[in-house]
Amino acid sequence: MPADTPGPVILVHGGAGKVSPDLVDARRAGVGGAALSGWQVLSRGGSAVEAVEQAVRVLEDDPAFNAGCGACLNRDGAVELDASIMDGRSLAAGAIGAVQRIANPVTLARAVMEAGRHILLVGEGARRFAAEAGIGECDPETLITERQRARWAALYEEKAEAPGTVGAVARDRTRRLAAATSTGGLPFKAPGRVGDSALIGCGTYADDRLGAASCTGDGEAIIKLVLAKSALDLLGADREPMGAARHAVELVTAWARADAGIILLDPLGRIGRARNTPQMTCAFIQGDPSALQVVD
Ligand code: ASP
Repeated sequence: MPADTPGPVILVHGGAGKVSPDLVDARRAGVGGAALSGWQVLSRGGSAVEAVEQAVRVLEDDPAFNAGCGACLNRDGAVELDASIMDGRSLAAGAIGAVQRIANPVTLARAVMEAGRHILLVGEGARRFAAEAGIGECDPETLITERQRARWAALYEEKAEAPGTVGAVARDRTRRLAAATSTGGLPFKAPGRVGDSALIGCGTYADDRLGAASCTGDGEAIIKLVLAKSALDLLGADREPMGAARHAVELVTAWARADAGIILLDPLGRIGRARNTPQMTCAFIQGDPSALQVVD
């Protein structure tokens, strides 16, 4: 039996793909800051759910990532956001899809989870739910960066650049696990398209008995393979986390020849991460914040 990792653990990602050179430093600083922010929640005794929400909020507010402010634009030139969150203790989950005017979609997803009745709300209904939950709307222009507007104007011909979806997995002091994912989706997507990041089991999954996972990459391929839950089932079948992550990404390569990346944690607090793209900027802390590691 492998040893338990002492203390809280958090691992975040900033999207699978090829990061354009002028964004590399900002992405590395961004994931590092998000991991530290989530870890501070855990070190104060906060729950894994609170920690992944906090880490993802930091990345949603950072224009270097494709989530919240800085999200890529759909075919109509609008920002439509997907996000989800899951509590590994109870399997409670919340998600929103194709939502406009919300600065922190992960917080809206958490409100859906806390409300308890539904798991996924989309579009106009999700906006109405946000108002009822006291989550204010923002001016949609404040979510659009010059970079994303320029990409849209160029019709995204340079497809190589990483969109920069964000995600986090955490284990708190009481060994509860949680996962969250947030994205603007794929550049130039059809209005109304909802990707894996809003779908429990595909982009996000957490179950204290198995592990916690957040995915990034080609959402349509990830959905076909129910990737987050499939990866955790591999963990449950006794694979160690790095091997499970690698195997999950190999499934996407083999079956869909599409881009994918995944981060995961097992119940012992061990980390797994893999990608089939040139980069996926990640940061993690196991134990104390001086052990922060940022990796591509
Ligand atoms: N998986 C996201 C989506 O398809 C995009 C990404 O992770 O880059 O919406």
